[in-house]
Amino acid sequence: MVQLTTAQLQIERKEILAAYRGLIKSCQDHTSPEDRKLIRKAFEYSQEMHKDARRKSGEPYIFHPIAVAKIVTREIGLGTTSIICALLHDVVEDTFAEVEDIRREFGNTVAEIIEGLTKISGVFDHKSSQQAENFRKMLLTLSDDIRVVLIKLADRLHNMRTLEHMKKEKQLKIASETHYLYAPLAHRLGLYNIKTELEDLSLKYTDPKVFKEITQKLARYKDDSKSYISNFIKIIKEPLQATDLNFEIKGRFKSVSSIYKKMNKQDIPFEQIYDLFAIRIILNSTPENEKADCWRTYSLITEKYKPNMERMRDWITIPKTNGYESLHITVMGPKGRWVEVQIRTQRMDDQAEKGYAAHWKYKDGKEFNDKAFEVWLGRIHELLENPQLSALEFVDEFKSNLFSDEVYVFTPKGDLKNLPIKSTVLDFAYEIHTRVGNSCIGAKINGKLVPLSYELKNGDQIEIITSRKEEVKEEWVNFAQTSKALNKIKDALREQKKIIATKGKALFDWKATSLGIHEDHEFMNVILSYFKIRNVFEFYYQLGAHRLDIKKIQDLIQLRKDQIENKTKSPIKEGTRTVIDPKSFEAFIRKERGVDTDMLLIGEDMERIDYHFAPCCQPIPGDEIVGFIMPKKGIEIHQTHCKEAEKLMSHFGPSIVKTKWTEDANITFLAGIKIIGEDRIGMMNNLIKVISGMMKINIRSITIDTEDGIYEGVFKVFVHHTDQLNKLIDLLKKVSGVFSVTRV
Ligand code: MN
Repeated sequence: MVQLTTAQLQIERKEILAAYRGLIKSCQDHTSPEDRKLIRKAFEYSQEMHKDARRKSGEPYIFHPIAVAKIVTREIGLGTTSIICALLHDVVEDTFAEVEDIRREFGNTVAEIIEGLTKISGVFDHKSSQQAENFRKMLLTLSDDIRVVLIKLADRLHNMRTLEHMKKEKQLKIASETHYLYAPLAHRLGLYNIKTELEDLSLKYTDPKVFKEITQKLARYKDDSKSYISNFIKIIKEPLQATDLNFEIKGRFKSVSSIYKKMNKQDIPFEQIYDLFAIRIILNSTPENEKADCWRTYSLITEKYKPNMERMRDWITIPKTNGYESLHITVMGPKGRWVEVQIRTQRMDDQAEKGYAAHWKYKDGKEFNDKAFEVWLGRIHELLENPQLSALEFVDEFKSNLFSDEVYVFTPKGDLKNLPIKSTVLDFAYEIHTRVGNSCIGAKINGKLVPLSYELKNGDQIEIITSRKEEVKEEWVNFAQTSKALNKIKDALREQKKIIATKGKALFDWKATSLGIHEDHEFMNVILSYFKIRNVFEFYYQLGAHRLDIKKIQDLIQLRKDQIENKTKSPIKEGTRTVIDPKSFEAFIRKERGVDTDMLLIGEDMERIDYHFAPCCQPIPGDEIVGFIMPKKGIEIHQTHCKEAEKLMSHFGPSIVKTKWTEDANITFLAGIKIIGEDRIGMMNNLIKVISGMMKINIRSITIDTEDGIYEGVFKVFVHHTDQLNKLIDLLKKVSGVFSVTRV
């Protein structure tokens, strides 16, 4: 450690006091003298606690809490409590101070916020799963006091601003976390400036070369476009000045990180980005005139410059869920250049830059009572309530569900609902009510019939069609997208399964007890291995769902009884015919499932043996198969789970042939796939392109049916193996407008 001279220490003291005075100055206009006394106390307490600590840069630690407090008040707009908490935010984590000390000195609220901050601080040091776990903890605190999260963001922002003092690998780690977790969170909370700065800073460390290049190009561009922008502004200023509107016009440039994002997303160079700057008009309106003033401005501008209606974004009529309100238009400026113009009021602008905290300025109380924010918090709670999600899955889910854009749709009565983008009819149904979801069978959108899997589009008016019965289907998990719907579907499926399993058990017990047999562990294991079922619950469920042959189960129960009574010599009869003649119970099992049976190898023994593939299930290599010796028809090969095969197995006990595929890949087999999708022009063409173009698979036949704008096609194709077929199915699912692809 460097020893400082008394003179140096004195200079440092002066610098600390200067920094503190800077903080006081930035909160002067919204704090009382009493407030400032408390802030002073927190500052002195923090300084005392951190007095021996220094940051990586070598400066006294106290500079950091002061800087965080400054961000909290100046850039987020928070008040006294938050300033005090920011000053104390690392005290419990990094010094001997305890939460109880804070409570004694600064009261309950401050203590609770510090406790929240301590729970989530210092955390991102270990494994990735831990990062996620801590992020989850942080979001849990959202409900307690949002200020915890806001202070944490300020803390992260200051750490990013001073990242140059860290080691290279630490820089990379912190920068990527910032980009992955904190920037989206800031965005979601509507802290636009902080989000942008976090993104720019993380790019600076994750890709310094690109960052430097874009920064330089942007600086040059700013210089070059100065006169164009001032000329553009001059033309619209005149008609605006002729009105009583009170306004301000600025030119705004895109941030480095958003330029970078756009270059990547559209795969274009810097030079081809057309919207590097936007014009922002900020109106000073009274609350009741806000919208009218925005639209007046809009019409004055579009009289001077022609708008592109497709690029108009009206977030004043329906704000974004993060609270963003603004009217964006793109107009044709001089020299044939498209220019974006953003129209908003001072209040909207404050809110866009400082987020929810800015509400406090415009509302009397000190509570957040914004409806969109409530909805957002509600979604977070739904996610948190799902105990099945691991922390990492949670973060992914959180990001995809809550940070993505939304679709705005309407109920038949015209109420607005917003859902995450890619939500389906099913998600909407569950959004309305669990029972509406559970009994949903389809929907009418703008009067047109659509399936459950229909992806919602902005402005859709949705009327859910329900049946009287609540019946949730297993495939629904593929159609739903929101965690709310998925959780409800899984709940319902579990319930339904339990009911069916209970029926199955009752059936089994009845059959068994009538023969004096009771469910015991050994017997159940034999049954499970016979049917290749994982557990007893699943067995009862399949039995209850009529997926197992009750006759076969009766035989097994009879065999068990015979075994117990040592009367295994008598053959089992079905009518007058002998079904099976087991020497013992085990022999019976081995005969059908055993390993010692001769195996028919399909693909090798082809010429020698008279066999064919069953038309009902059309097995192809990769499928589990079984053969049956059919009188006069040779061997018929089925998939083992085929319904027909199950039936045959119960009737043709002794004539079952164990069957396996060889590795020979030169033979092709016929398989059928059913595709359901939107009936649109070019659909057929796109599907064929995938099948024969991309996958080089031959098509034997195509049958198509269309109804109500829904396309249903069955393709018979020649494939080598299930792997190839599954790959094809995956590719077909990606074709736009396709709802489902299944093997038939
Ligand atoms: Mn800190």
